[in-house]
Amino acid sequence: MPFSKLGLTPALLNGVKAMGYTDPTPIQLRAIPVVLGGGDLIGSAQTGTGKTAAFALPVLARLGKHEARGPRVLVLEPTRELAAQVETAFRDFGRFTDIRATVVHGGVGYGRQRSEISAGTDIVIATPGRLMDFLQEGTLRLDGVKILILDEVDRMLDMGFVKDVKKIIGRCPRERQTLFFSATVPPEIEEVARFALRNPARVEIGVARTVTQLITHAIYPVSMQKKFDLLVALLERTDFHSVLIFSRTKHGADKIARKLKAANHSVAVLHANRSQSQRVEALEGFKSGKYEVMVATDIAARGIDVAGVSHVINYDVPANPEDYVHRIGRTGRAQAVGDAFTLATPEQANDIRAIERFIGQKVPQLKLEGFNYHSAPSIGVAAPQRYVDPRRAQQQQRAPQGHGGGHHPRPAPGPSSQPAPHGHAHPARPKSGGLSRGTWHRR
Ligand code: AMP
Repeated sequence: MPFSKLGLTPALLNGVKAMGYTDPTPIQLRAIPVVLGGGDLIGSAQTGTGKTAAFALPVLARLGKHEARGPRVLVLEPTRELAAQVETAFRDFGRFTDIRATVVHGGVGYGRQRSEISAGTDIVIATPGRLMDFLQEGTLRLDGVKILILDEVDRMLDMGFVKDVKKIIGRCPRERQTLFFSATVPPEIEEVARFALRNPARVEIGVARTVTQLITHAIYPVSMQKKFDLLVALLERTDFHSVLIFSRTKHGADKIARKLKAANHSVAVLHANRSQSQRVEALEGFKSGKYEVMVATDIAARGIDVAGVSHVINYDVPANPEDYVHRIGRTGRAQAVGDAFTLATPEQANDIRAIERFIGQKVPQLKLEGFNYHSAPSIGVAAPQRYVDPRRAQQQQRAPQGHGGGHHPRPAPGPSSQPAPHGHAHPARPKSGGLSRGTWHRR
């Protein structure tokens, strides 16, 4: 069914056309009529499925024309980046209308947001913290809200926003339409849904457990010591357009970025400890191609839409299986193809199995042909220095040597004999999957 049959206004159809969309995605086909009809909705859709347009288009249609009073639509988002991205989508789809959208998030000054709110805006897209500030100071009132959209609810709760989210829902009129999006709906989220929604329709598209068929994914088993070298080797041997590298921790992300810069890659870093201007610069630079690589943590990158991410590399196996789906969903978005690779150490065999159970499929394990998987130094490279705790070294110098005296240095970590096979063979392309320069494995 084409967009023109969905009941959207001509101005919005022009907006859709200007975006270059030809046909609605499955979630758009199913959600748009529900939202246009005024009903509540719980949507669980895989990331990259066109979820934003699925709510933004019918919401814009319901708003009609700009009204210079308090917001009639409130969208809650877990992160600043997502809030900014959704605001851009509203502006893009609504470019042939006079509807105004305002983004409200932390990390930047209050002045501009305050004056946009005071000028009268139709849609506020906000992260919970800054929105609470504006509610407390009385700049913003929610009593005119007709449509409340809670996006990425599971992530908002993970980030500890549950109290704020409930308070915000409580400030909206009871008579309203509520749209609720969450990758998964476990019992604690079901509870928030019951609190917020009335007789919702459920739209479940390619439940978040599934990973799109357009993504080729693989695990590269490797020892801890050789992990960074393997990352560099993978980057060297590919003809990538843009690569998103995930680290579990902010500190880890900084470290990977530093080392990649030293290896002459152009690198952006995105995580919650960076200033707002650094976050914007990183994302914009990555989108524009200034940076070929972006290193990010899960929180910062959730839902981020960057066209043409050709590869996702999990430098660390994600802490929970659901994050695996979100991370690799950064590539292969909206019918594009992409590759996703995970570097896994032997200790992470259980995490890998949990991911495979979650997504209901085995992920092929591959070896990079020609890569020296052993920890012994490669030719021309100095042997890695054993880390010696400086305080311990001092104690050792002071302590009398001999039996029972002082601390004996632990033996240096030996070369790992084999990259962990995690108990099964490399199903898709065993060992032989040699990469020639400029290509990834294609399965
Ligand atoms: P989302 O899941 O909303 O983050 O969307 C993922 C990507 O799909 C974005 O880049 C959208 O611009 C794009 N997209 C959304 N709907 C369509 C469509 N009907 N046709 C083509 N691309 C789309």
